Amino acid sequence: MTADSKNMTIQDERDYIVQTYPRPDFVLERGEGVYLYDTEGRRYLDFVAGIAVNALGYGDAEVAQVVAEQATRLIHISNLYHTTPSTALAKALVESSPAFDRVFFCNSGTEAVEGAIKFARKFARDHYGEGKTTVVAFDGSFHGRTMGALAVTAREKYRTPFMPLMPDVRFAAFNDLASFTAAMTDDVCAVIVEPVQGEGGLRVAAPEFLGQVRTLCDKHKALFIADEIQCGMGRTGTLWAHEPYGVRPDIMAVAKPLGGGLPIGAILLNQCVADALHPGDHGTTFGGGPLVTAVAQTVFRRVSAPRFLEHVRAVSNYLDESLQDLAADSAHRILELRGRGLMRGLRIDGSAGAVCEAGHQVGLLVATAGDDVLRLIPPLIIEQQHVDEAIGKLRQILAS
Ligand SMILES: *Cc1c(COP(=O)(O)O)cnc(C)c1O
Repeated sequence: MTADSKNMTIQDERDYIVQTYPRPDFVLERGEGVYLYDTEGRRYLDFVAGIAVNALGYGDAEVAQVVAEQATRLIHISNLYHTTPSTALAKALVESSPAFDRVFFCNSGTEAVEGAIKFARKFARDHYGEGKTTVVAFDGSFHGRTMGALAVTAREKYRTPFMPLMPDVRFAAFNDLASFTAAMTDDVCAVIVEPVQGEGGLRVAAPEFLGQVRTLCDKHKALFIADEIQCGMGRTGTLWAHEPYGVRPDIMAVAKPLGGGLPIGAILLNQCVADALHPGDHGTTFGGGPLVTAVAQTVFRRVSAPRFLEHVRAVSNYLDESLQDLAADSAHRILELRGRGLMRGLRIDGSAGAVCEAGHQVGLLVATAGDDVLRLIPPLIIEQQHVDEAIGKLRQILAS
């Protein structure tokens, strides 16, 4: 590709695409493993993974083959008819956890959160009548951009321009038992929480905090919604991020990595909640289509394999040690390490956005989570050598 066509792509983006994303000055063309390549042949070590989506990295041969085969056979039929891939994926998801019995498929994370809120409202109305409609969420949360999901997302910058949002939302302080307890009253129908916060700064839920969510949901007859859209599916070293806490949510939202890069969301729920849902209560044209669910079956089988999760834990431990070494050197401006597994935050003294930009110059892609937190969310297939390369590059850009 010539420099002219690269510049034309960038110019056309400025002319024709809604300007809600400031994009850097290169054009990505292809990917292989954990690397992306731009149109000028420059290589980037990818610690963004399409925002925690590309668990298996780029150019996975099996994923590509399933896409091709299923695209030839059947792409879309709507939810009016039976088709095998969605049913098989639902079964695999349900069998992956003792907490859930049913699945509803949709197309994105925010849609999974919308559905979860609707299901909780329906359940509360069926069982307890009118008025039990409040949803409790937490500061630092991110649950999506549509009106319901945005209403339970904390960040003012995302919310304020679009007021009024869905009513009956109450925020409590994350990991703060007193604040949470004060927010829990009998008009609460659901509590929504990320076991590890993503976008909002990579804070990890304390064990006693998530335990208290379960206890107070039971006490006030509210449903526990786990948003595992970012932290679920192996990213923190266990298949589901809530597993090590020993708690069972009633509903779980899943999305980002599930479709291997194709758009899909899933709402997992227990039988009690499912019993409140009847034909016509909720729907979607595209959700759970045969193409995306055939691919998701492959991704889910691969990522949920014990050996794969063992790999994630081993490489996470190595990343953890490497980050601690990096942070120990005060020249590197790291104030705090956050997160778990392959979902790590570096709170820095300075602008996280500026560090991201510096990363582009040295061939490293990293994300941000707020103004002063760098977010590392690499493909789950990274190896120690990639951790070494990323740390070396971070050392270089944080020191300058
Ligand atoms: C990304 C994300 C969402 C929203 O997902 P979209 O697919 O972008 O709508 C919701 N919750 C969490 C925790 C996320 O990381």
